[in-house]
Amino acid sequence: MENKVYKEIYDGFSSYLKEKRDADGGRRKTGERDAILNEICAFKGHFDINMLHARLDNTKFRVSKATLYNTLNILIEAKIIVRHHFDSGLISHHPHIPPIPVMYELRKKAESHLHFICTQCYCIREVKHPPFLKNNVTTLKSRFTPEYLCSYVYGMCGRCKNKMQKDAQKNKSQSNSNNSEK
Ligand SMILES: [Zn+2]
Ligand SMILES: [Zn+2]
Repeated sequence: MENKVYKEIYDGFSSYLKEKRDADGGRRKTGERDAILNEICAFKGHFDINMLHARLDNTKFRVSKATLYNTLNILIEAKIIVRHHFDSGLISHHPHIPPIPVMYELRKKAESHLHFICTQCYCIREVKHPPFLKNNVTTLKSRFTPEYLCSYVYGMCGRCKNKMQKDAQKNKSQSNSNNSEK
């Protein structure tokens, strides 16, 4: 990540914490929180709490999951990260594939791409956000002030589609040969 972007995120968090501290006397900024933010910024894409927890275990800051949940919630409030619920009712639940855990991502990153989610194998592909979508969203509802944009597109990935077509072909040729045997 560019230093400039990192500084922006870091400063945003600091000023949010300062504001909160002034307002409610709580949410002191700690080295621990900085370490958490560092690790979050180092993720290329989405992460879940276990991934973050594992990374922090390699630093001198070993934090409990309860502390992590708490900090993640503060980072969401501070508009620094977003919580993704990729697992929607649309996804057909295969018994052998566990549902996607709740994922997080820097809001800045999340806004820059669409999420293409395969409802068969759960893979998530990121596709660069076409700028026109973000620029035109304000014209859709005049009295609504958009804050950020997060887009999910559910469907079938190329690999699953290929597999489905191959399976269909196999079934067809099988039933053809069964018919000719009769
Ligand atoms: Zn994303
Ligand atoms: Zn797939």
